[in-house]
Amino acid sequence: MIAELEELQKRAETEIAGAGTEKELQEVKTRYLGRKGLLTGLLRNIANVSPNERPLFGRQSNEVKDILTGKIEAALQGIKAVEKGDTLARERVDVTLEGRRIKPGRLHPVTQVREEICSIFASFGFSVVEGPEVEQDYYNFEALNIPKDHPARDMQDTFYIEDNIVLRTHTSPVQVRTMLKQPPPVRILSPGRVYRPDSDVSHTPMFHQIEGLLVDKEVTFADLKGILTVFLQEVFGGDTLIRFRPSFFPFTEPSAEVDIQCVMCRGEGCRVCGQTGWLEILGAGMVHPEVFKNVGYDPEEYSGFAFGLGIERIAMLKYGISDIRLFFENDWRFLEQF
Ligand SMILES: [Zn+2]
Repeated sequence: MIAELEELQKRAETEIAGAGTEKELQEVKTRYLGRKGLLTGLLRNIANVSPNERPLFGRQSNEVKDILTGKIEAALQGIKAVEKGDTLARERVDVTLEGRRIKPGRLHPVTQVREEICSIFASFGFSVVEGPEVEQDYYNFEALNIPKDHPARDMQDTFYIEDNIVLRTHTSPVQVRTMLKQPPPVRILSPGRVYRPDSDVSHTPMFHQIEGLLVDKEVTFADLKGILTVFLQEVFGGDTLIRFRPSFFPFTEPSAEVDIQCVMCRGEGCRVCGQTGWLEILGAGMVHPEVFKNVGYDPEEYSGFAFGLGIERIAMLKYGISDIRLFFENDWRFLEQF
């Protein structure tokens, strides 16, 4: 029996040494030390050992069990260490490699110009108000004194959703909505998207406008000229010449177109300004008494001015961009210049 035990130990040790994986080792362990294992089976036959050999056999069996358990455990640790080493080698991080650069985003040029304009008017005490892009005919036209037969209401110039629902053609309906909600004084700026069925180098079906409205007692055309002059010189430079030309809008009286000296040729005359030396930049005027009546303001007591400008147009002139469609093509090479 003792000889059998020694034989079994030798075989087990050989198999432990030959096991290459954790699974193989577990199999060896089960084969020898498991509940139905070979060593366990041998111990069960202790009855066949002669009584004077039994203590020696018992002790030696326990020793073999301890030795084999120890060797299996050691082999297991060895295999795990090798596997860990392999994993580390495979997943090794080369800390000397240059990192991936994060490309920071930036604001779209239209957004940048809108924010600049809003912050200039914020310094004059104007607050920003927004309104819906899908607008009722009443707010977009009627309340702004644009009668049914006005050319601006022609189907060609407006996207109609239903008979009385349009995509707003300007941000002016926001001034009507604001005045209907609050009594004077009013000092608001309303930036946002507007829609007109036009598309060429200077028109896109969607573009951005900013509408300004100031209503108070004793507001005069001189206030309008003063604020717009300071504003335009902030945007285009303090030495920029500005002129006001008489014009017509249904919702202002008197009305004016405001021009700045051409930023390309500084008044010499060039292709951009059509050789005139001037660029049309915004429309403005004193709020029409009919508009005040429509919102319940007393035109005898209050007066005010309104103006509207295209953000893309300002951005084009400020940055020398010749085609408005570039703003909406999302070409990174174009956008990253700003
Ligand atoms: Zn010019």
